Amino acid sequence: MIFSLSKPIKARTAVIVVALLLVVFANGAFFKHVGAIYPLAGGNLFFVISLGIVLFSVTVILLSLLSGRYTLKPILITVLLVTSMVAYFMDAYDVVIDSHMIQNLLETNIKESVDLLSFKQVLYFVLLGVIPSVIVYRLKIVSMTLTETLVDKAKVIGIALAVAVVIIFSFSKYYTSFFREHKPLRYYANPAYYLYSVGHYAQETFSHPYSGIAPIGEDAKIISGNQPRKLIVLVVGEAVRWDHFGLNGYSRDTTPLLRKEDIINYTQFTSSGTETAVSVPCMFSSFGREGYDKEKAKHTENVLDVLKRAGVNILWRDNNSDSKGVADRVSYEDYQSPKVNTICDEECRDEGMLVGLQEYINTHPKGDILIVLHQMGNHGPAYYKRYTKPFEKYTPVCKTNQLEQCSKEEITNAYDNTILYTDTFLTQVIALLKGNDERFATGMFYLSDHGESLGENGLYLHGFPYAIAPEAQKHVPAVMWFGKQFKIDKAKMADSAKEPQTQDSLFHTLLGYLDVNTTIYQPRLDLLHVGR
Ligand SMILES: [Zn+2]
Repeated sequence: MIFSLSKPIKARTAVIVVALLLVVFANGAFFKHVGAIYPLAGGNLFFVISLGIVLFSVTVILLSLLSGRYTLKPILITVLLVTSMVAYFMDAYDVVIDSHMIQNLLETNIKESVDLLSFKQVLYFVLLGVIPSVIVYRLKIVSMTLTETLVDKAKVIGIALAVAVVIIFSFSKYYTSFFREHKPLRYYANPAYYLYSVGHYAQETFSHPYSGIAPIGEDAKIISGNQPRKLIVLVVGEAVRWDHFGLNGYSRDTTPLLRKEDIINYTQFTSSGTETAVSVPCMFSSFGREGYDKEKAKHTENVLDVLKRAGVNILWRDNNSDSKGVADRVSYEDYQSPKVNTICDEECRDEGMLVGLQEYINTHPKGDILIVLHQMGNHGPAYYKRYTKPFEKYTPVCKTNQLEQCSKEEITNAYDNTILYTDTFLTQVIALLKGNDERFATGMFYLSDHGESLGENGLYLHGFPYAIAPEAQKHVPAVMWFGKQFKIDKAKMADSAKEPQTQDSLFHTLLGYLDVNTTIYQPRLDLLHVGR
């Protein structure tokens, strides 16, 4: 016995001991799956040990947050009993236990008669659940005032958090692939994952302030005459950082073809988020970065709805994950599928989205046209998969999604080759527009959804909390191209492209492109306004 039952102990000691017990004895499935991906050799051994410490820190934090001054024992006992059963099911059946499963387990155990339980299950329940619970029940806990309890909790959580953060940063390449590429592994973390999913389930169930889709810009109207018709292509890029884009003065010319075009290049463009799931819905919404809320945006119309109402033909082609809800009410085509995309080898290429676009244009003889192309672009960490052989200009490249196996140079080479591919893709978009220049006032707007970290301060990929994210994840390339019939003062545009701009402007700029007026249109945020 680590401590005497008769001597009072602090609440935090009980939390720490229970967390240690659970991490060591209730995580067989977790470490088995981790070991399968990170065999215990070389650097992996230290990583797996560090993972154990992070899991311990997370468990301490969760138990500290859950337990209150008077609920310490009931919470610890409940967690011990449930976790023992979760450990059994994960070890025995290799299943992942989420909130729905727990509900099932609880109901099943009550309904089923005892003789249906296996001996092994009883063993888990008794050794890992009942015996520790009895000990917890009999513990004498030092009584503390509310203030003392809160201070003590803050200390424990602060230290556990600091330990976890330091470790994650020290093994940042490993943790990047652990969190990004091996998501399912965390589902085996016991009790961390089921506690998280119960919390998530409760939040989903009880917080539904929004319903339906609130209309905006109901007065939207096209204000220009109908001639010439407009043909606009918006390219939403993926994870391209500003300073690796050749046009912005990068030491490598990663945009040799765009350079030859008559381009307006925005040099100080900031994203709305550091990940696709935030940036994309945010930039199409009317809320702007500061007013953005995921649920609110999901239940409110976006600029595509407004343009559609005004009579613009809209087509969204997607070679990324999906439109994140933005294109739910307009024509949407999934180009990640080889059934639709005709240019697929290892994976479906962005170029495939251009196939048949001329036909789409030809078969829409009335009204303006807006085509949105959502690229796979520089989606990491497997940058080497994002381009075809002719674009492998910078070598050697990192040929795995396990970033810890590559040097920073190999990762950067693969990343830069991918920008070369996008350079060609954007030039093909411009070529398509040039082919329609006689019939339409044409324009292209390309902007990346967010940037990317490439190892600076140990950070890789993106998705860092916005407030403390490095510039590399927020500063993005943005370029415009205009056809000869599009009435715009390019010199004025070029001047304003040197000023700081944000993705908050996309909503109003699209209204500007298509000459759609509504009371919610703000010329100040329309990037084209200065050139009109
Ligand atoms: Zn993205």
